[in-house]
Amino acid sequence: MKQLLMATTNEGKLNEIRMMLEGTDVEVLSLKDAGILTEVVEDGKTFEENALIKARAIMKETGKLTLADDSGLEVDFLNKEPGIYSARYCGVNTPYSIKNRNILERLIDVPDEKRTARFVCAIAAVFPDGSEKTVQATFEGRIGYEEKGEHGFGYDPIFYLPDRGCYSAELEPEEKNRISHRGKALKLMLDELKACGALG
Ligand code: IMP
Repeated sequence: MKQLLMATTNEGKLNEIRMMLEGTDVEVLSLKDAGILTEVVEDGKTFEENALIKARAIMKETGKLTLADDSGLEVDFLNKEPGIYSARYCGVNTPYSIKNRNILERLIDVPDEKRTARFVCAIAAVFPDGSEKTVQATFEGRIGYEEKGEHGFGYDPIFYLPDRGCYSAELEPEEKNRISHRGKALKLMLDELKACGALG
């Protein structure tokens, strides 16, 4: 059985990658499974740099093939804020109801066509021999005019999907995973890893 370490303690992310690898002989380990407590300082300037910083640090400690991701929300009218600072926007411990309201207030009177936004997810893989691969995917939408929906997390309640006529937080989890930045990036990465033989 091959092992792949996902540099996260987030159960949602682990479940998603485990679901995508069902039926293969790949075991996905979390930081907790691998007994890693290290806090990695994400001081990169892009999603890709931050994902690489995390994956490199954890591969160095474990010697195992390590995947790490970094994601966030880019709002075009706000010059792509909050971007890589999405988790820290308005303060790391500030509830998302306040972060979301703050974004809605900054976009008051901004017309539909200028409310474009996207979630971005970069995933980096670092191999035991030090070689690296990165992929990135986006999930395009708009900032809506209210908070809506009970699913998802973070900025999902203000992220409106014009094609579907609903908010991201109104999507069923399986549907969101299928079309989201993270789901698409994960698929790209797993296809790359299969193509180079890393997953058998
Ligand atoms: P991280 O990549 O887990 O550090 O997530 C960065 C931050 O981006 C999260 O804390 C959320 O604020 C935001 N974010 C990333 N992906 C999503 C998503 O799918 N929905 C809502 N917010 C997200």
